[in-house]
Amino acid sequence: MSGYLTNRYRDLTAYVPGEQPPAGMKVIKLNTNESPYPPAPKVLKAAEEAAGKLNLYPDPDQNALRRALAESLKEEAGDSGFVPKPENIFISNGSDDILNFAFGAFSDSDVPAVFPDVTYGFYTVFGDLYGTPYKEIPLKDDWTVDTKDYAAECAEGRRLVVIAEPNAPTGITLGKEGIRRLLEGCRNSVVVVDEAYVDFGAETSLGLLAEFDNLVICRTFSKSYSLAGARLGFAVAHESLIKDLELIKYSTNPYSVNRMTEAAGLAAVEEKDYYMANCAKIAATRGRVTEELRALGMEVLPSKANFVFARHPEVSGEALAQGLREKGIIVRRFSKERIRNYLRITIGTDEQMDALVKALNELLTGERR
Ligand code: PMP
Repeated sequence: MSGYLTNRYRDLTAYVPGEQPPAGMKVIKLNTNESPYPPAPKVLKAAEEAAGKLNLYPDPDQNALRRALAESLKEEAGDSGFVPKPENIFISNGSDDILNFAFGAFSDSDVPAVFPDVTYGFYTVFGDLYGTPYKEIPLKDDWTVDTKDYAAECAEGRRLVVIAEPNAPTGITLGKEGIRRLLEGCRNSVVVVDEAYVDFGAETSLGLLAEFDNLVICRTFSKSYSLAGARLGFAVAHESLIKDLELIKYSTNPYSVNRMTEAAGLAAVEEKDYYMANCAKIAATRGRVTEELRALGMEVLPSKANFVFARHPEVSGEALAQGLREKGIIVRRFSKERIRNYLRITIGTDEQMDALVKALNELLTGERR
């Protein structure tokens, strides 16, 4: 820290992203929930074509992509009564960017944020960045959210409620009816539902936008659409909340999505079937890996995401993560007391997961000798 850093940021502890090993390092990378499957060929072609126009600024409103997304989301909204329109969609540079804007737009020293004690680690950082007091509400013993806790908070005054659905790093869901209960108890507050992992088998809350104009659904192309490296995320909400998010984006970086990423995103939406088939494949791999890890004596939480959260009752998370690393497999671990012995393991290809199960088997039988 230099002597010039403003007082505002002196106590800020930044988010620490998962390790990104240097290109060329041969590892099985199961630590940042990327898709193991490549982008569809048309997506690569679209990005390449867009590269030819890099001398021109991109469309700051992302109109083409908003129209395509509105169309694509219609099916997911079903007969809820919510008909997505481009005005309901906000696009930016990854969903971290959207969450950043949401904290900026909807929380401050008078509007605290509330979220679970075990959830995506960036929420506390955004709270600190914006000087927003926050409360981390303990998940129940079975790692589920008790919506009554949030109703009690909102009864005290307006809050920014943030729920990852499915939750990260547990993979556990509340379900659409649970989210509805949450919204009913928090009508005075903005409720952000972070659906980063929803495509891997969870229920979306999109349809609830027909009933709740205080709901912001946050999505990303990083996981289910194999575009983590492109940085593309979006929010779906009532028009007025989208305008609030735009206010912040236009006050910081209007061109936050580059031309290649916009083109890739547009082509990806058109290739939705390819990506949804990959998600189904990942969900199937998740199912069998869960069984295999349990057979090794590990406790594995029931996940609806593209990762599993697992621990061994007798071997520390640190020892397992280190042992895996020595065998060329990187997984994610967290320092928080309640989850320090868990590993968060991204679901990769079947071959990658075979290697993981084999390595864990060797480590665990070795540990017990
Ligand atoms: N939300 C959750 C719950 C996540 O795990 C992640 C990935 N780190 C994000 C949002 C951000 O994803 P991205 O910025 O790549 O869209």
